[in-house]
Amino acid sequence: MAVSSEIEWTEATWNPTTGCTKISPGCKNCYAETLTKRLKAMGQQKYKKGFQYIEHPSDVELPLTWRKPRKIFVNSMSDLFHERSTFEFTGKCFSTMIQADQHDYQILTKRPKRMAEFSELFFKYFGHKIPNFMWMGVSIENKNFVERINDLRKVRCHTRFISFEPLIGSVGKVNLKGIDWAIIGGESGHHYRPVEKEWILEIIEQCKKQNVAVFFKQWGGFRPKSGGRTINRRKFSEYPQINKRNSLKSIHFDEVAFAELCISNEARKLQQHNSITVN
Ligand code: SF4
Repeated sequence: MAVSSEIEWTEATWNPTTGCTKISPGCKNCYAETLTKRLKAMGQQKYKKGFQYIEHPSDVELPLTWRKPRKIFVNSMSDLFHERSTFEFTGKCFSTMIQADQHDYQILTKRPKRMAEFSELFFKYFGHKIPNFMWMGVSIENKNFVERINDLRKVRCHTRFISFEPLIGSVGKVNLKGIDWAIIGGESGHHYRPVEKEWILEIIEQCKKQNVAVFFKQWGGFRPKSGGRTINRRKFSEYPQINKRNSLKSIHFDEVAFAELCISNEARKLQQHNSITVN
């Protein structure tokens, strides 16, 4: 059975990894961390180590068991491109997505440099960019982190999105070239930081000018649904257009060969690092 979700812009969640580390102000009241504490207290085995980053091999093939096509948020409880993630394991997750290509996958990170690095390995192995039904995205909370969009543009993929949530400040003027979709949302929870209407409208206006689909998820507040999701008497519930799905199903994924590629990538990085240190 699929793990359904209450998150408005998705239909199910899949967490092949759990846990994370805070890296920017948007992480302050991390929803995944709060929920992890609750699930641990309830005795759920998967969360027994709390918010420590962990890969779960037993969950890697889960989407293959869900026949009905759905939008799947990958790692609502973690970050697939966390510093401690191994590209060997990430490769297996992508192999599952390639095989279960009836779904759309929404893969969101605050570590787009690592996402871009993985996409290079993906391209080397498959000879193609990451397919269009895998939507690759970054989270941005205010103008100090818009640089993540440039890193996202370096990801070798077809569909890109930005989650402006929790929006805790204005993002200012943003270049949305190559971006297909934007989610906008205020923070929720006991310690929520209120969002301002101008910050939301500023993003919507730029999306409209630059042909980016918009999904306004929530105003936020004490509870996620406290303020609703209407702005100026309107709801924005748009999604990116995926016209023809480009499947890579016919390309065999050999775990050992992909792992060798990952090892040679690490060796090359180490060599580069050493030559920089010596010089
Ligand atoms: S990157 Fe995401 S999951 Fe990780 S701590 Fe920050 S908000 Fe939480």
